Amino acid sequence: MRLCTTRPLAPRTWTVELRPQPQGPLLVCPQCSSVPESLHGRSARSAALAHLARHARRSLLPPHLRTCQCHERGCRWHPRHRGCTGPLLLVLSRESGGRLWRLADACTACAGAMPDASVVPETTLIAAHRATAPALAPARSRSSRRAPTDWTDRTLVRDMLSFLASSLAPCSPQARLLALQCALRSTPPGWVRIPSGLIRAMALPQAVAAWQELEEMRWIRQSVHDSPVGSAQLTDPLIGAPGRKARARAADWALRAHQSHPVRAGAPAVRLVALALAAHGAPDRADSIAEIGQVARASGLSVGELLDAMESLSASGSIGYWSLDPVTEDLTWTMSSPLPAAPTSDPRR
Ligand SMILES: [Zn+2]
Ligand SMILES: [Zn+2]
Ligand SMILES: [Zn+2]
Repeated sequence: MRLCTTRPLAPRTWTVELRPQPQGPLLVCPQCSSVPESLHGRSARSAALAHLARHARRSLLPPHLRTCQCHERGCRWHPRHRGCTGPLLLVLSRESGGRLWRLADACTACAGAMPDASVVPETTLIAAHRATAPALAPARSRSSRRAPTDWTDRTLVRDMLSFLASSLAPCSPQARLLALQCALRSTPPGWVRIPSGLIRAMALPQAVAAWQELEEMRWIRQSVHDSPVGSAQLTDPLIGAPGRKARARAADWALRAHQSHPVRAGAPAVRLVALALAAHGAPDRADSIAEIGQVARASGLSVGELLDAMESLSASGSIGYWSLDPVTEDLTWTMSSPLPAAPTSDPRR
């Protein structure tokens, strides 16, 4: 039970509205007195997030004062679930067919249940975790020294899959795998260069087609015309994402998660599901649990396609036991083997 204490109201919820106008939509913010902004060709998501992120940055709060804003409003932002649980996340969601955009603190359970929502990665959360990790493990062994990093990489990949779930149009699993590497390896203004060694390491059956898919949906803009795959700019740069070093390490973690033997032999959809399971898994135990809708959304697949991929992973021995509870819709699984260790020399140059 929680004590009910009085404390200053800290509404960490911000919304903007897109008003259609003959000359193009205007972004109107009821929280500040700025004049309505024209989108100037930017995507609605990108413009809304840029504005809302400014409000979030100005309203930093220590973690213990942050609360699930969804819960405080009676959980009206999503269908019913089993109650608030999990770490607080900063969540961007789209409502009223894209006319309203909201950025708010929400618990992991509420964030996962909200339709059209994605987690905005927060550097501050990761920094806070790193600061507390040594106190939790004063006498760390060689193997446990990797744990906080693994937790950070895993969390970052999970958040990035959630970001892609709302920022990518429907696309093939291999385009999604490529988009993940682009997002994790981009510079803050959104430039990304994927070396040919990395493309080879990803072993996508049709890397050029996957790259074209991202271009055609205008998720990237190609910057070098003589190379079919390589350099581009994200049309929707990541705002509030952790620094490049942390993201590059998470990109390597993601690569190992979907390239490990025998996952590597599977179709791109199967590899993407292996990655989503690893990212939603519990780092310190073999068995993991997550809502099936959340894993399907992170993989960009229907529940049926996800279950087919689970069958393939189980048949190839990549996962051990797995089950789906038809009442709670909880997916439970055990990973057969830990992720292979990072290579000592980077082959992706
Ligand atoms: Zn504003
Ligand atoms: Zn809620
Ligand atoms: Zn909640």
